[in-house]
Amino acid sequence: MNQVDYLRISLIDRCNFRCQYCMPEGAELNYILKQQLLTDEELLTLIQEVFIPVGFSRFRLTGGEPLLRPHVVELVGAIASLPQTQDLSMTTNGFLLAPIAQKLYDAGLRRINISLDSLEADTFDLIIGNRGRGRWQQVWDGIQAAHRVGFDPLKLNVVVIPGVNDHEVLNLAALTLDRNWHVRFIEFMPIGNEQLFGDRGWVTSAQLRQQIRDRWGLTDSQVRGAGPADVFQIPGAKGTLGFISQMSECFCDRCNRMRLSADGWLRPCLLNEAGQIDLKTALRSGVSTAQLREQVKHLLDIKPEINFKGRDPGTVGTYTRTMSQIGG
Ligand code: SAM
Ligand code: SF4
Repeated sequence: MNQVDYLRISLIDRCNFRCQYCMPEGAELNYILKQQLLTDEELLTLIQEVFIPVGFSRFRLTGGEPLLRPHVVELVGAIASLPQTQDLSMTTNGFLLAPIAQKLYDAGLRRINISLDSLEADTFDLIIGNRGRGRWQQVWDGIQAAHRVGFDPLKLNVVVIPGVNDHEVLNLAALTLDRNWHVRFIEFMPIGNEQLFGDRGWVTSAQLRQQIRDRWGLTDSQVRGAGPADVFQIPGAKGTLGFISQMSECFCDRCNRMRLSADGWLRPCLLNEAGQIDLKTALRSGVSTAQLREQVKHLLDIKPEINFKGRDPGTVGTYTRTMSQIGG
């Protein structure tokens, strides 16, 4: 059985973008009220007294948009300084990154993934649902700041939507030619905006690779990292190309992660809502961390049965949380 040692922690469900593929168009999201969010202290207690003792050592901070979380730099510092933290990373849309990239690095963050679905300002604004507000440049500045500060690896996440940004696949892949960046194409999933998924469909990693191979060639030697991406390289390029193919290829067998929502729900599988534990309510009602450890251990034991394995992700059915609420 795969060791589950990686926790994705959503710091906040709010977001300053409204990406088409992540949030239902025009939807009124019921944001978690401030008093329902795990406090910094509660989160640190859970990490130190529950997650680390049961074997988690790698943490990714995500959102919504994690940089909207008050005191995010201090929180990064507190998690990074725990001796058992082997790896701390963040997934962000990069909009608020430039001014605090150095502070995050100094606080101990070393790995960062930034979502960048387009190199065209207009297409970008269309995707993030803030048309006319010129946000692309500010995100690009965030990426440049992260690069200058020394985040390594610097990863860019791309979700390809047919008819929206699929004409940019080669331009996005070309970013790796003379930069040591990792551009990762994530297959669009029907979570968050099923309507768009139904209308537009999705592009498989194999199709994307074929486009890139036709233009430059692509190394056959497939490296499998610790995560779900299959990693390739354009011959002679400095950076790499990753493909996350959860729609076309089931990788539940090698799933090494769980997800903690900003309001303290521990979720064992992205594609199955079964088995979740409300850790925050338990903690606030006086359940001891020793008891919580037992509950999490039990969840780890039964996770293989909960994993979505072998089913068609196109039929994930009704979802009570959007991707921005789960954290991706
Ligand atoms: N706001 C941050 C960001 O955009 O990077 C972090 C949260 S976001 C939910 C995490 C990741 O989930 C992003 O890389 C985003 O592209 C991805 N994502 C969101 N909705 C998705 C969908 N329907 N299918 C595939 N990936 C999705
Ligand atoms: Fe916000 Fe990230 Fe979702 Fe875009 S993908 S709406 S930036 S949470």
